[in-house]
Amino acid sequence: MTWEVIRKTAAERSSATLTEAVRAQFTWADAESMLDGLPGGGLNIAYEAIDRHVAAGHGAEEAICWFGKDGRTRRLSYADLASETARFANLMVANGLRPGDRLFAIAERVPDLYIAALGTLKAGMVFSPLFWAFGPDPIRMRIEIGEAKALVTTAAIYRRKIAAWREEFPSLKLVLIIGDEAPEGCVALGPAMAGVSDQFDIVQTRPEDPALIHFTSGTTGRPKGAVHVHKAVVMHAAAGRYALELVPGRRYWCTADPGWVTGTSFGIISPLVNRVCMIIDEADFDPERWYSILQDQKVEVWYTAPTAIRMMMRAGKDVAARYDFSALRFMASVGEPLNPEAVVWGNEVFGRPFHDNWWQTETGGIMIANTAAMDIHPGSMGKPLPGIEAGIVERDGDEVRECAPGEIGELALRQGWPSMMRAYLHEEARYKKCFASGWYLSGDLAVRDAEGYFWFVGRADDLIKSSGHLIGPFEVESALIEHPAVAEAAVIGLPDETAGEVVKAYVALNPGYEPSEELERDIRGLARKKLGPSVAPREVAFRKTLPKTRSGKIMRRLLKARELGLPEGDISTLESDET
Ligand code: ATP
Ligand code: MG
Repeated sequence: MTWEVIRKTAAERSSATLTEAVRAQFTWADAESMLDGLPGGGLNIAYEAIDRHVAAGHGAEEAICWFGKDGRTRRLSYADLASETARFANLMVANGLRPGDRLFAIAERVPDLYIAALGTLKAGMVFSPLFWAFGPDPIRMRIEIGEAKALVTTAAIYRRKIAAWREEFPSLKLVLIIGDEAPEGCVALGPAMAGVSDQFDIVQTRPEDPALIHFTSGTTGRPKGAVHVHKAVVMHAAAGRYALELVPGRRYWCTADPGWVTGTSFGIISPLVNRVCMIIDEADFDPERWYSILQDQKVEVWYTAPTAIRMMMRAGKDVAARYDFSALRFMASVGEPLNPEAVVWGNEVFGRPFHDNWWQTETGGIMIANTAAMDIHPGSMGKPLPGIEAGIVERDGDEVRECAPGEIGELALRQGWPSMMRAYLHEEARYKKCFASGWYLSGDLAVRDAEGYFWFVGRADDLIKSSGHLIGPFEVESALIEHPAVAEAAVIGLPDETAGEVVKAYVALNPGYEPSEELERDIRGLARKKLGPSVAPREVAFRKTLPKTRSGKIMRRLLKARELGLPEGDISTLESDET
């Protein structure tokens, strides 16, 4: 498959913050110099995100511009955020919580969630966000693994998902309920915040003190709790600037929920550290609502995900054509491979391409990216950010061999960047297995081309071996969604006596198309033409939706387990699943 390279103009190149000169000279000391450090010593993410801007005279600038589901809006300046988060930190102290204690948050995207996150960090405590739509069991399991001492949630979530088992966790000392009233045994956040001071001396955390615990998406199995330290803010500062073009005053919208690592690292910390104005929308995805926000809020930088982009494509270009996107200057995507068709579609609809970037909960920040100055090869994740050394390797026990350009191998990162996870909670062995010979091994397969661009192939578990070919699901899925009827696709390998494995595809259709034998043949025909007979799917099954994690990632392992009649494994993060 060949897609035309999207060349950047000279103007785009010269205005880009990450010029080749910056890239060539970069050292981590440069990134550290983007930060101030706590007066009196130490490093605290919340200070870098808020109070230092106030100290430098930027308190009146807008930090948060929030839109509620019910039409309400709320705006918070950096000064407002400084006092609200100070109150929250005082509340922690008043309730006997100590630095290092863990606070979990389970709430929809309301301002109090953001205040709680940063207030927790000011108190020197560890913040762990959970996605609000999780059911009772996934919440309970994570609270148990994380040994939560405090919890912030809403009355509705508390009653439906927490009240029944709360008593089993006596170490959970404090449950704060957003709003003015609280069920028995809980504390209402509104009045409690009003009763404490808005001045607080930020706890002098050190760079290696834990700050965040993020649970992975559970796409490939049981979710892991990745521990991140305050020093990660060095990466948040640099990656925000270089991969997302975040500069002071810019209007930025990250659509990820803070329940996932993207929504915290690049939906709270990185934007505030880079002093932008964050747009937050409480509501769920809806193409028209999203286009209105982009237009009316004059969003300049937009960070979103492939599943949302595919839903916009499904809604059609004519819906987008009714809006004005002239304020937009940079668009990025993360979370899953971004199909080349989506990159090209974005370029047509918004007048600029989506810039795909790759990272994981474990890496704590963006690692590989298409930056503003780079030409875009649709379908490629881009190149490592400055300071990041990425490799394609093959692991053999404790040894690691580097692969040649063009060869498929495991995507690995040279250890030592600031936002690397420091542990998987209670899973020392699983953590240790991620490292060999100075490399962190990601579990993803990729290829590097001669120009140094990285191309995602698939998860190591999802690779298909058919008649001597190594087949990455991403390539096949991207070919399938080029068919006008196909909105989304997932492919897996099934055991086959002669070929070893054969490819089976599942597709969800665009509006206006119905499953039929003829359509199945037609889709297979297109795939055969694009990919060749040995790579194209042998069978295409129609589904209303594909099974996905709540963070929007296709769960291929579940399709495969069902097909083979095997146990489904951990499905605590499974969201949509209609056959
Ligand atoms: P688990 O580790 O529990 O199976 P997960 O890997 O999906 O879940 P996350 O850390 O949220 O959990 O997701 C990181 C993964 O998402 C990456 O390892 C990769 O497989 C995928 N991913 C993220 N961004 C991209 C991208 N730009 N292109 C391709 N894949 C991506
Ligand atoms: Mg993972």
